[in-house]
Amino acid sequence: MVNAYRPSTIDEALRIRNETKALPLAGGTDLMVRYKNWAGLPPKFSQPVMFVAHLHELKGIEVEGDELIIRSATTLTELLKDGRVPEVLKLAVKEMASPLVRNIATIGGNICNASPAGDTLPPLYALDAKVVLRSVEGERTVPIEDFITGPGQTVLKENEILCEIRIPMDEFDSIFYRKVGTRRANALSKVSFVGLKNLQGDRIDDIRIAFGAVAPTVVRSRDAEKMLKGIKIDEIEQIYPSIEAKYAELIRPIDDQRSTAEYRKIVSLRLLRFFLLGKAD
Ligand SMILES: Cc1cc2nc3c(=O)[nH]c(=O)nc-3n(C[C@H](O)[C@H](O)[C@H](O)COP(=O)(O)OP(=O)(O)OC[C@H]3O[C@@H](n4cnc5c(N)ncnc54)[C@H](O)[C@@H]3O)c2cc1C
Repeated sequence: MVNAYRPSTIDEALRIRNETKALPLAGGTDLMVRYKNWAGLPPKFSQPVMFVAHLHELKGIEVEGDELIIRSATTLTELLKDGRVPEVLKLAVKEMASPLVRNIATIGGNICNASPAGDTLPPLYALDAKVVLRSVEGERTVPIEDFITGPGQTVLKENEILCEIRIPMDEFDSIFYRKVGTRRANALSKVSFVGLKNLQGDRIDDIRIAFGAVAPTVVRSRDAEKMLKGIKIDEIEQIYPSIEAKYAELIRPIDDQRSTAEYRKIVSLRLLRFFLLGKAD
């Protein structure tokens, strides 16, 4: 049996985390699976656990300047209900788990779980999201691509708590999201794809592309995006082979119980082609 803590404030939570290294538990939809035990027995946690989902400092969504701030214990259902949440993030959340799970699962839990198939991650990478981490020593803000370092790996320190996700409030003319899974509910991604685009006349002004579940972390190539920026829509076809080659190098899927590496790679590149050229073959 391990100790479980239920702090009343974020300051108390930070102190407990600092002193005991207790594992934050928000919705528990990843943790209760990871530490599951035989029916009727308590979960097999190997370290103290601290409930955080009730802390009001970790709840809610607000706008500050030109950034949207989503507090980490905001549930997936709450994201869907808020008109300010970027459409591409909502498209991903709509296809996650089931309504029951979405009612307790949090965005912070999805980020900290750092699964290559975590469905909020490709939209958050494409939106240039940052995470705000707090400890008794202070606060730091880290771009999401620097926060997640590998499958289940992050730079979160043993005494830190993820408090906020900050997203620049950019608008996009074209928003494309696809999740490829076995069925519509309760299926983890075999592949997911995010494409965001802004045009100025017939030229690409801004473009963001992110793939989920096809490498240890989300694939986003600033180089490829730079090659696409400024060119005319009808010029994409000419440079497409070199763009595809760049992504083909970065997309390094694995075979697992959900899919094969080969299938994942083929589908990813078809989605890229469809987003950029409007045709899949
Ligand atoms: C049936 C089912 C279906 C699912 N389907 C999907 C799906 O389609 N797509 C998908 O991406 N996921 C899916 N999941 C996984 C899970 O629901 C999500 O990853 C969810 O967002 C996790 O949030 P949580 O609040 O439950 O996290 P928890 O289980 O509470 O925590 C997850 C991890 O994050 C850490 N953590 C949580 N909050 C904080 C914080 N504030 N600061 C620091 N660390 C923190 C925990 O210590 C733990 O390591 C599914 C799970 C189930 C059970």
